[in-house]
Amino acid sequence: MTFQEIGLNSDLLKAVADLGFETPTPIQEQTILLLAKQETDMVALAQTGTGKTAAFGLPILNSINCDNKTVQALILAPTRELCVQITNDIKNYGKYLKGFNVTAIYGGARIDGQIKDIKRGVQVVVATPGRLIDMIERRVINLNTVKTVVLDEADEMLNMGFKDDLDTILRETPDQKSTWLFSATMPKEVERIAKNYMTNPAEISTGKKNEGADNLEHIYYVVQGRDRYLALKRVADYYPEIFGIVFCRTKAETQEVADSLIKDGYSADALHGDLSQSQRDFVMKRFRSHTLQMLVATDVAARGIDVSDITHVINYNLPEDVENYTHRTGRTARAGKSGIAIAIITPKDNGKIKDIERIIKKKFEKKEVPNGSDVCEKQLFNLVHKLHNVEVKDDEIESFLPAIYDELKELSKEELIKRVISEEFNRFHDYYQNAPDLNIVKGSVDGAFGNSRTTRFFVNMGMMDGFNINSLKEFLADAVKVHGRMIFNVDVKSSFSFFETESKLVDSFLTLNTNDVEFNNRKISLEVSNRRMKEGSSDGERRSGGYRAGSGGGGGGYRGGEKREGGGGYRGGEKREGGGGYRGGEKREGGGGYRGGEKREGGGGYRGGEKRESSFKRPRTNSANSEKGNSERGSFSRDAEKSGGEAKRSFGKSKF
Ligand code: AMP
Repeated sequence: MTFQEIGLNSDLLKAVADLGFETPTPIQEQTILLLAKQETDMVALAQTGTGKTAAFGLPILNSINCDNKTVQALILAPTRELCVQITNDIKNYGKYLKGFNVTAIYGGARIDGQIKDIKRGVQVVVATPGRLIDMIERRVINLNTVKTVVLDEADEMLNMGFKDDLDTILRETPDQKSTWLFSATMPKEVERIAKNYMTNPAEISTGKKNEGADNLEHIYYVVQGRDRYLALKRVADYYPEIFGIVFCRTKAETQEVADSLIKDGYSADALHGDLSQSQRDFVMKRFRSHTLQMLVATDVAARGIDVSDITHVINYNLPEDVENYTHRTGRTARAGKSGIAIAIITPKDNGKIKDIERIIKKKFEKKEVPNGSDVCEKQLFNLVHKLHNVEVKDDEIESFLPAIYDELKELSKEELIKRVISEEFNRFHDYYQNAPDLNIVKGSVDGAFGNSRTTRFFVNMGMMDGFNINSLKEFLADAVKVHGRMIFNVDVKSSFSFFETESKLVDSFLTLNTNDVEFNNRKISLEVSNRRMKEGSSDGERRSGGYRAGSGGGGGGYRGGEKREGGGGYRGGEKREGGGGYRGGEKREGGGGYRGGEKREGGGGYRGGEKRESSFKRPRTNSANSEKGNSERGSFSRDAEKSGGEAKRSFGKSKF
């Protein structure tokens, strides 16, 4: 059926055509047809992404009297973002209606401007419950003339504790009115509202909800809990053009993940209820304009948000309430476009995946977290593609070309291509060449160490040599020339230590024995250990979240050359000199072995220790960033800097 056939007036037909809506969505067809015939209460089970705003917006406008400046329709929504979004949508639908006005009323903005809008005369008010109550108490709004009340995202309004406010507001409206309730789920409380405030409501359901979106792919990765953040970065690196929402469970987690991504140079920011309204607006503005690639959000803050072209929805953690999964994933694969929903889970979440499959009536595909070579290949071809399509500013570059041609004249086309590509490729290749496999090997359990992928070593150096976890890790990393991240589960005892590394690196570590590497005039000796680290054993590093904290010094990121220096993380040769940490490098060249040697005699030992500790005392670093991301993303790095300041926000009391 067409919009014309279901009875929209000509002004609205023009407006929907301008918006590019060709045919009504199933829920629009049902509501518009129903409400054109009769005035009735209505309960609609519908989620965002189904076209539900127009499903109530168009019927309201279809019967609005624009000559009359009184409030005829009241739409209640849980968050300011949704409120503003609905208002804008309604403005668009009503743009050809002469004398039509709609206004948004929400907290966190000045009330006087909103009062002025109301006094000017509006036919449709879109409000959040709290601010509307304020207006009612100030007697600046009259709801006596309301003919239609819409409760949008009713379940969420109840979740957010607006139950009493809804009761108060609904009591202020006339008995003779139509109430339309839109909810993605129908818990008891929503049923109660429906029962108490509605008379024989018509029931509308879109039948298939988001689960019906065949263009939405559901995939999941199984990783150790401590690798969650690394897996997120792999995903972001594997999809260089990602434009997505990363859902976290709590405000604190949301902020932490966003902070880490920002610090690692990704184009990301947080959206949650502890941010001020202006911060939230700023973040949303950047996200809507695609200036931000990844919005890290809580379920509540992102509820109902409609941003076009979202390519990925990432469940950093699965939602507590599996029903929320459909809310989350409804952000992508909209209006016929395709999308990918990714869940990063630990083995204990397998059951939850099954629950969600039952609800969405679709199967998830278990995929392997992309490995270093997958990412490199993806990034390489993305680069080639960009090179192919780059805009050449002939006028601006012209004057430099003769000198450039001259300098490069010896190179063939093939050689030139190789070099241009290598300039960028080398960075992520270097970063990823030893990247660990983040997938859980079958049979291994989260928290169990020393599995087949990893090998535990004994080394004859310990606290007496002045080592602590971090300094030993740095020392070994430097000696073997691997990333600090490759050394984990370090357990420093008084005269010896244990550590773990990837099994593929065993030979490299064993060469320390044959190369006669010394420390403190003692020959380093390593042996593969049969000892397995016990779960929860006390090497501190484990307590602080696996190898993450310790290996902060092994950060960086494959594009991180410049960023790395400013942003903490791996402090290669130069930085080390100024920044404390392991100081052996230069000394060794001078023939004196590691500095810790003398120190040990003087009772101190390895120098890096104290210094390093202080360099790690950065506020709230989620230092899972050892495998630091692309501090690159050239155009995005400015963003990251900007929002870096913003990232220092305090957390509020409530969890969500
Ligand atoms: P909603 O469920 O209201 O958040 O809408 C989801 C998205 O679908 C929005 O971006 C709308 O602009 C779009 N949309 C709504 N109705 C239609 C339609 N009939 N045809 C195409 N797109 C639509």
